[in-house]
Amino acid sequence: MYWKPFNINCDFDSGVLTPPGNLVVRHLSDMKGFYQDAEAFTTLLGQNPKIYEYYNVIIPEEPGHLQHCTSILMPGRVGDEYFMSKGHFHKKTDTAEIYVTYRGNGILLLQTPEGHCEYLHMYPGSMSYIPPYWAHRTVNTGSNPLVFFGVYRGDAGHDYGIIEENGFAKIVVEINGIPTVVDNPKYKQK
Ligand code: ZN
Repeated sequence: MYWKPFNINCDFDSGVLTPPGNLVVRHLSDMKGFYQDAEAFTTLLGQNPKIYEYYNVIIPEEPGHLQHCTSILMPGRVGDEYFMSKGHFHKKTDTAEIYVTYRGNGILLLQTPEGHCEYLHMYPGSMSYIPPYWAHRTVNTGSNPLVFFGVYRGDAGHDYGIIEENGFAKIVVEINGIPTVVDNPKYKQK
């Protein structure tokens, strides 16, 4: 049977979708072990701030469909390290994704399975291509929420485990007030 065409309303400023579809919210407590500074993490855990949320339009997980969502990543830091998303590979590793930034400033970290890391700047109007096989994580380096739209193949799926275990080879920290991409001291090259 045909899937019925439909509109969703997206507020470009807040990233809120109406209807909201499937809303996922991640707080600091959901990200134990992701940040470098364990002491700063524990201190901030008292407030347990919201780090990011995303609104997923409800779409079948089938190859012909396109999953799409808006993400809202909050501004802030754990120690010197900016708030970031967990980051993931796609379960179907040969599937790409596109991010279109509506608001804010950030860095998109990308990494191959061998640990080669690259990054792209995210700013209003940036349209970032995440090719097949690259893991991806977003980092908010600005003082406003980073709001962006993502679209990827219906059956791509998410694999968070590899990144959760070993992180990215690079991290994004504030040095003298400037967002800077540096080597992750905890990263173990395979
Ligand atoms: Zn993805």
